[in-house]
Amino acid sequence: MTRLWNDPADFADEMIDGFVAANARSVRRVTGGVVRSTVVPEGQVAVVIGGGSGHYPAFGGMVGQGLAHGAAMGNLFASPSAQQIHAVAKTADRGAGVFFSYGNYAGDVLNFDAAQERLRAEGIEASTVAVTDDISSASIAEKHKRRGIAGDLTVFRSASAAAERGDDLAAVSAIAARANERTRSFGVAFSGCTLPGAPEPLFTVPAGRMAVGLGIHGEQGIDETDIPTADELAALLVEKLLAEIPDGVEISGARVIPILNGLGSLKYEEMFVVYRRIAQLLEDAGIVIVDPHVGEYCTSFDMAGTSLTLFWLDDELEQLWDTPVDAPAYRRGSVVAAAQAAAAVDVATTEDVIAPGDADSQELAQLVRAALQTIVDTIDEHADELGRIDAIAGDGDHGIGMRRGSHAALAAGIHAAEAGAGARTTLARAADAWADKAGGTSGALWGVILHTVAVRLGDTGRPDAQAVASGIADSARGVQDYGKAEVGDKTMVDALVPFSSELTTAADGGASLTASWTTAADAATRAAVATADLLPRMGRARSHGEHAIGTPDPGAVSLALIATAIGELLAAGKDTAS
Ligand code: ADP
Ligand code: MG
Repeated sequence: MTRLWNDPADFADEMIDGFVAANARSVRRVTGGVVRSTVVPEGQVAVVIGGGSGHYPAFGGMVGQGLAHGAAMGNLFASPSAQQIHAVAKTADRGAGVFFSYGNYAGDVLNFDAAQERLRAEGIEASTVAVTDDISSASIAEKHKRRGIAGDLTVFRSASAAAERGDDLAAVSAIAARANERTRSFGVAFSGCTLPGAPEPLFTVPAGRMAVGLGIHGEQGIDETDIPTADELAALLVEKLLAEIPDGVEISGARVIPILNGLGSLKYEEMFVVYRRIAQLLEDAGIVIVDPHVGEYCTSFDMAGTSLTLFWLDDELEQLWDTPVDAPAYRRGSVVAAAQAAAAVDVATTEDVIAPGDADSQELAQLVRAALQTIVDTIDEHADELGRIDAIAGDGDHGIGMRRGSHAALAAGIHAAEAGAGARTTLARAADAWADKAGGTSGALWGVILHTVAVRLGDTGRPDAQAVASGIADSARGVQDYGKAEVGDKTMVDALVPFSSELTTAADGGASLTASWTTAADAATRAAVATADLLPRMGRARSHGEHAIGTPDPGAVSLALIATAIGELLAAGKDTAS
């Protein structure tokens, strides 16, 4: 249970403020997260990590000398936006390029990839290794689909040590990829976690039971057993990890760093009791234990649980591991303190000039504004339900994310419309704000949807029903290009594609926008309901596919709700677009 907060919506921001205030020696706040507050030599590859908040010491606590150069810090359990990641990376860059590393979650991948593309387009080299240590989240054949948990630390440290010794971007990437390949984790949980202000935990584990193979966002485990003794738990963790040794490693004589990670409310004392047995079992297997870690390295709010990571060293990885680190939450050896960097060189925020639209488009901008208000009202009303269905197979944040995104979009839309913007600029500003503030997968995708539609609305004149239908068709293609989901994968695409095709058919047949939209929204609703029968193949829900059968996809449901509500708005007489 989380007890202390002000407004839950401000929790992550206020947490970052306090974290920076307490650690100014190591970190400085910048747009999107934190960077080192100490001088970094020009020509050093910048290692930028990140992810949702709620996992401290991941990710901000791992920024400092010998570790990462910057961290993009998203909202609670939500990926940072591409804008945030890009801003942190730009600030951290020292002319040798940016190396990104983060836990492999759909929303993080989308947003980090988008930030990486933007950097490359600006002539800054960038490369990425997403951490995939959790062996319970996909089979070895699909290792690239595994999520990242406490194994983040080994990859971040290896990459950072390589960067500090002067490796170029390709070499840093290669080291990180090797560290990731040699890092395997497995975890269990005894209770769920409760986000600030949430009435209930994201998931619960029945009293006396243990979820096996948990994720760090409250994704459910793959199995459940009675709570074992400490020694039995040690045996389970070791057995799972020794059943999957990285290629080319011989167990006997292997040098391994074990990391027993606490998920947030497990006592250190309990972990030491478990670790005692883990050490015996590893030694019995002929493994040489190097620099064991027992503590909290990647938490999941107040979840009670633990994971074991084994990092299978080779000579070079061990040398890199042996370097000193001084980060807020992680210190090893003794670091020669670098000087504090001069005043912040934050990336400049672009000047806010809004080009006015013509009179027709300004009028349409008012409809856009009303539509954004409708989206906010719809999402506010259904946020709890969306969170509940997301928690069944995902991480429970869909309602929170959609609220954050839609509220930010409305505020930006109002600001633009009041400054005289046309429909395109109004909606495009709303799109950027949504993607920036919502975080997560759906936030990035709603940014794409609104942006593509905005382009067709233009800042002059009024589009007809067919132009709006073309905008929606563009957005369906954009979402698929960006998120790589097909119809049938159990995502918002399953509602968006039929919505788009019905809208196009009706508009091409000469129906008014209101009539076309209403027909299309009905199709989206039917399609969203039908996603209950599908097995998820994309996004977070994928690793817990079977739990999702019988429950519709939250992203498809929210899209259908929004489409329906906008149809009602149009029908209520504000159909000025055709
Ligand atoms: P996150 O998955 O990052 O927690 P949300 O919970 O806000 O983000 O959104 C989850 C929804 O996002 C899913 O229900 C699904 O509709 C949609 N989604 C996830 N991955 C994809 C994808 N690759 N393409 C399209 N939609 C996706
Ligand atoms: Mg979610």
